[in-house]
Amino acid sequence: MAKIQTDRREFVKYSTLGMLGLALGGGIFFSPYLAAKENRLRPPGAVDEKKFLSLCIKCGQCLQVCPYNSIKLSDIAKRAGLGTPYIDANERGCYACSAVPCVLACPSGALNHHCEKPQDIHMGIAVLEFPDTCIAMSNTPLPKGYNDKMSNFTNSVRNVTKLETDLLKKLDEYEGKQCTLCADMCPIENPMDAISMVSDAGGGSKPEIYDGCIGCGVCQEVCPTSIPSIVVKPRITYDEYYNKA
Ligand code: SF4
Ligand code: SF4
Ligand code: SF4
Repeated sequence: MAKIQTDRREFVKYSTLGMLGLALGGGIFFSPYLAAKENRLRPPGAVDEKKFLSLCIKCGQCLQVCPYNSIKLSDIAKRAGLGTPYIDANERGCYACSAVPCVLACPSGALNHHCEKPQDIHMGIAVLEFPDTCIAMSNTPLPKGYNDKMSNFTNSVRNVTKLETDLLKKLDEYEGKQCTLCADMCPIENPMDAISMVSDAGGGSKPEIYDGCIGCGVCQEVCPTSIPSIVVKPRITYDEYYNKA
């Protein structure tokens, strides 16, 4: 088991760079427009996208019960699926609540009630898409105000919860420290199954992602670089992503 894990880690390390090269060469892979149009991050338990679009009655129940204000309803600018719920991990990821209340609240089956606990959540996988911008690799400490984006988002919602204010306090404590945010903030029960910081050949460190990642998007949310170095690919498994690579 340990051997398999080690091999996987090596594979992730090299295939991340491989994907970057492929993507830069192909261009199309990085188009944010295409990503938004064709493939978005849905709340936990979301069934297959085609089925999801036919089942979701756009009632907004899931977003009303989310204590992190992670879920939004798609507007006209997002084209397909007008009024359907999605998660924009650049603003707020899903914190994998223990009873998955968004799924419980869904009356239509668009969010499958078999998703009962965080271990059942499979929204996608995180990928270190822009390793060169990761400030941990250059040993650059987190600057003051690095978390303004998260503060601004929290201040913009009407029903800020204690969970959200606690989150901001925790993020404040990282100012001036080396960045390990993506690994430290991973909300699953055993974050080391999903992500950990490892030494980089250049003298810094960087995150590696493993097959326990549920694609919640929290690492993308908290990543302090202007374009997050780590991003979530929706609706794909670890094996599908890296076998493709
Ligand atoms: S699991 Fe919790 S944080 Fe995640 S979308 Fe559902 S209610 Fe929101
Ligand atoms: S590495 Fe952790 S925080 Fe990032 S998407 Fe995966 S489960 Fe979520
Ligand atoms: S959050 Fe993770 S990926 Fe982003 S800069 Fe920090 S260590 Fe790098």
